[in-house]
Amino acid sequence: MNKRVRVRFAPSPTGGLHLGGVRTVLYNYLFAKKHDGDFILRIEDTDQSRFVPGAEEYIFNCLKWAGLEPDESPVPGGIYGPYRQSERKELYSKYADQLVMDGHAYYAFDTPEALEKMRYDYKTEQNPSPQYDHSLRMKMRNSLTLSADETHQLLAAGIKHVIRIKMPEHETLSFTDIIRGEVSFDSSFVDDKVLLKADGMPTYHLAVVVDDYLMKISHVFRGEEWLPSVPVHILLWKYLFGLENMPLWAHFPLILGPNGKLSKRDGAKYGFPVFAMSWTDPKTGETVEGFKEKGFLPEAFINFLALLGWNDGTEQEIFSRQELIEKFSIERVHSAGAKFDYEKAKWFNHEWIKLSEVSSLKPEIRSLLSEKGITDIDDALLGKVIGLVKDRCTLLSDFMPQSSFFFKAPQTWDADAVKSKWNEQKKEFFKQLIRNYSDTTAWQAPVLEENFQTTAVANQLKPGELQLPFRIMLVGGKFGPPVFQIAELLGKNETTSRIKNALEVF
Ligand code: GLU
Repeated sequence: MNKRVRVRFAPSPTGGLHLGGVRTVLYNYLFAKKHDGDFILRIEDTDQSRFVPGAEEYIFNCLKWAGLEPDESPVPGGIYGPYRQSERKELYSKYADQLVMDGHAYYAFDTPEALEKMRYDYKTEQNPSPQYDHSLRMKMRNSLTLSADETHQLLAAGIKHVIRIKMPEHETLSFTDIIRGEVSFDSSFVDDKVLLKADGMPTYHLAVVVDDYLMKISHVFRGEEWLPSVPVHILLWKYLFGLENMPLWAHFPLILGPNGKLSKRDGAKYGFPVFAMSWTDPKTGETVEGFKEKGFLPEAFINFLALLGWNDGTEQEIFSRQELIEKFSIERVHSAGAKFDYEKAKWFNHEWIKLSEVSSLKPEIRSLLSEKGITDIDDALLGKVIGLVKDRCTLLSDFMPQSSFFFKAPQTWDADAVKSKWNEQKKEFFKQLIRNYSDTTAWQAPVLEENFQTTAVANQLKPGELQLPFRIMLVGGKFGPPVFQIAELLGKNETTSRIKNALEVF
């Protein structure tokens, strides 16, 4: 690659960041890092009507959590800034004017009512939604149909207008998509898109081309929903910059849910997240849970996301961030849709929890415990507990039922699970167990188990039938790691006092 690699993620801050969006970030990021290039975050907020407070900050937070932070962005900035299109407003009109001057664009003065009428008047069975295009533009009120004088007067009088691109008729516009190969469009099927709006703001099409040019973007990688926009972008590149330094393009496949394109609705229906982090819609107050809050590790999140549409050609599934950077290639991104499988995503998380160092899990587990009101946590015990239970946890939230009882004695017991088989003999056994355990000097799981077994046998009881009540005494219910390991970590005093307390209730 001879040009410096500069790629960008260019979201419109309109809501939660869904899986498709984060995957676009990830592939851009991996490509940039692999080629020692720059990853840029540009906020495309030219559509003021879609402005959603908090959405931009939310995007920053998601990228931070996933460890995909940009090299240049509105914060901390960079030499090609500003990186928010609304702050670049002044810059676009000269390009639009140049297009008009060169005959590639024109002023259009049509009112919303006139546009509505056009859509109604020219509607036919073959053409149910007529567009403002080469076939209709000469029937509308614009600088192509008005005289130069009239146009001038309208502009001078400050009459509301937009600037539209004049799409050529029957021009074949082609480009080579890195993933899909040669893609061609017939320009006649594309309407005369608005480039500059009445409020002076550029539309996406003009802004994206101008900014990709000014920010020296080398590759544009985005979702396939942007493929239909390419003919307009190619023409703008040609008219404005003579195709010089036009980026290479690749369009990523859709992420598929159980019924076609993965949607927020699928998430709600099937109970899985589709956003990176929880998003609360400021208008409705409705919150949609994200992967972070569901208990995913960022490492697992980016690992499964990387494989939604890409593989390295081997059977390998677990990749660290560094390995992904080394092995990622855009050419190996599939062109067919990638199916999202939540069970598989959880499998990745389980693998990553198992791979994680105890120390790296500590802060997260500590904060989950404190959300449950458990704040007085001995650090050494926390480390041992995490080490004991982590292999049993698929989601970080699974740590709670597996471990909170280590730090807080049960207040209630699942007595129903014991009741039917409970008797005096068993009660006596546990009283004796308290005495035996109080005398034990080697407080270790195998010793405790051995002692438990012999005491049971001596009392003509089956050890297997005593283990459930023992577990319930220590943790409150039928959950948790092996019971003697629990006792070992709880220590002598805590174990015997939990047996005593439970005996009073059983
Ligand atoms: N602003 C567009 C979006 O919201 C960016 C598309 C592109 O990357 O060109 O996704």
